[in-house]
Amino acid sequence: RLYNEVIELKGNIRVFCRCRPLNQDEIASRMSSVVDIDPSRETELHIVSSDTSKKHFKFDHVFGPEDDQEAVFAQTSPVVISVLDGFNVCIFAYGQTGTGKTFTMEGTPGNRGVNFRTLEELFRISVERSSTMKYELSVSMLEVYNEKIRDLLIENSSQSSKKLEIKQAAEGTQEIPGLVEARVHNTNEVWELLKTGTQNRAVGSTNANEFSSRSHCLFRVTVRGENLVNGQRTRSYLWLVDLAGSERVGRIEVDGERLKESQFINKSLSALGDVISALASKTSHIPYRNSKLTHLLQSSLGGDCKALMFVQISPSTADLGETLCSLNFASRVR
Ligand code: ADP
Ligand code: MG
Repeated sequence: RLYNEVIELKGNIRVFCRCRPLNQDEIASRMSSVVDIDPSRETELHIVSSDTSKKHFKFDHVFGPEDDQEAVFAQTSPVVISVLDGFNVCIFAYGQTGTGKTFTMEGTPGNRGVNFRTLEELFRISVERSSTMKYELSVSMLEVYNEKIRDLLIENSSQSSKKLEIKQAAEGTQEIPGLVEARVHNTNEVWELLKTGTQNRAVGSTNANEFSSRSHCLFRVTVRGENLVNGQRTRSYLWLVDLAGSERVGRIEVDGERLKESQFINKSLSALGDVISALASKTSHIPYRNSKLTHLLQSSLGGDCKALMFVQISPSTADLGETLCSLNFASRVR
């Protein structure tokens, strides 16, 4: 086999890899890059380091340090906009803390990520199709921390500690009773809600940034469509998920609370890997119930659904171990 790990576009699951640039600190300490990407071969990536034999990986697409948010969205947009055609879609950002998961999904105010660009595109296409289709968009935002689900769009933060539960509904679908679903008409409304959500997320944590890397943040767009020609109605979900950091923590380094967190994270990330690889191999039993994360996403993962995982990596020699872990995780998703 030419490649150590071969990831192909199978069914409706795609895996994109994105490598961030070396940061200022890494450049200052003369860190070198172990990631070799040839821009003319946009599905391949090589790991070159004296610590390991040369490794090759193949993905549906590889984005290097030079690829900007626009280039990433150009490849992502066909997947996300299919929610307007009635498909359920899940997009995940997976990887070690500091590799750009939040950069890819949220981006920065001057450099918007997938979430912003997606909503802009959904509103734009809604208008474009308005002579034949009527769309209603609403958004929800929730967090999974230590296997507990919390609504992030509850205005009153005293209530935000109220735990949400997943209820099994008819025909194998799941509902989350009480989850706020806010109707939105334009991107400005979406950003206001996102701000609320982000503020609520930080409540009760001393270091919001650090905390956010240990919980999964799920942003859901619900699309209700009505075909004005034949009256057909659809409801579909688009999930945009910024996963908890995938790094392993050493048992000795951490206190009890941090170790517990890390065990919950490991459990849910491996449950996610199990579900996606079961879907890709088309086995009949898909183990959705092994974590809150996969259970929440059950009706949006599998069947006709489309899934896209960004595997985020660092180019730095210092992160080589975690980088290989992430690339290997991604290669299970086949
Ligand atoms: P994570 O969410 O995985 O912990 P972040 O998204 O917070 O990582 O990224 C860590 C830092 O690296 C941030 O300052 C972010 O702006 C920067 N960064 C990440 N990816 C890129 C990229 N592709 N180009 C430029 N800066 C990036
Ligand atoms: Mg982050």
